[in-house]
This record gives sequence, C-alpha cells and structure tokens, in this order.
Amino acid sequence: MSGKYTIIDGQNVSESVPSVPDPGLTTVEFTAANDRDLRLLTQAVEEAYKGVECGDGRPFGAVIVHKNRILVSCHNMVLKYKDPTAHAEIVAIREACKKLKEIKLSECEIYASCEPCPMCFGAIHLSRIKRLVYGAKAEAAVAIGFNSCIANGSKGTKLYNKSNLEIIKLDVSFAEQVFHNTKGKFSL
Ligand SMILES: [Zn+2]
Repeated sequence: MSGKYTIIDGQNVSESVPSVPDPGLTTVEFTAANDRDLRLLTQAVEEAYKGVECGDGRPFGAVIVHKNRILVSCHNMVLKYKDPTAHAEIVAIREACKKLKEIKLSECEIYASCEPCPMCFGAIHLSRIKRLVYGAKAEAAVAIGFNSCIANGSKGTKLYNKSNLEIIKLDVSFAEQVFHNTKGKFSL
C-alpha cells in the first residue's frame, strides 16, 4: 500500500486525498475511436457474438495485441468449460502467456468488448498489460441480468494504484448493443 489508504477497524477504508494529482493513479480516458482501436474493438465484439452463437459462453470477447500483431482473439468460455472464471479476458491472458512463454505481458494491449469485471481487472494488472481499451460499460451487462458486482472493475483501479496501465473507453454504441442482441440466447 502506498499510504494513501488507511484501514480503520479492519473494515472501513478512508481515503486521504493528495493535494497534488498522483501520477501513479490510473484514470479512465473517454475517447472517440481511432481506426486501429475501432478495428480491434470490433473484433472483440464479434468474438462476443461468436461465443454466444456457438454456446461457449456469454457475450464478452477479448483480443490481445502484441507489438501491433493480434496474438489472441477469444471469448467467454464459462459455459463450455463449466468454469465461472473463464471470462474472455482471463482466457485471453492465459493463452497469450502460453504463446509468449511469459508471465508478463508488458508489451501487450487488451481490447475487451465490455469493461472488465474486478477479477479480470486484477488479472490485467497482474499480467502487466500496458493498455486496456474497452467498449461497453459494465452497467450495460448488469442491465440484462449480470451480477452487479461486475460493474466495479475499473472504478476500483485506484486501489491498485498502478501507473503503467492506460485505460481507454471507446465512445461507440455497438459494444453495448451486443447485450440487447444476445439477450435470451445464453444462460446466466
Ligand atoms: Zn471478468
């Protein structure tokens, strides 16, 4: 812990706000899409549709790019693997590490169709991925029935206090439409 957070009574966390902006604090940047980001996020969203269509999982996709080359493109595998942790980002990180024979993905970027849940967000930090680009807000998934606990991933980033992760939320609508278009086609 950096000292910015104080545990009180083992339960309540109080935050002392630094007087100057903390350069190590992760922030989410909202941005219009450039062509490259748009193309890769589109692929992640296509994965989300594919995963539902083939019955592998729920409508979430992820793409990992290594040095400007697509290393992994995959989707949620929770239903096929009977594994509640087989979220698209987790599947992608495991596959990328295997392919690179590394446990650090510091030269990689991840494109996620939806804002990562806390588990995936933690995994992205642990993997040292340098850049996260996502489309839908997690609240859009919650709106069709997903557990509300998934909606606190990036909002919790300050608890990780990492300086090396750039987070971009692309301002696109097609990423959230996937939830409406697949609703009822998979089991929750
Ligand atoms: Zn997740």
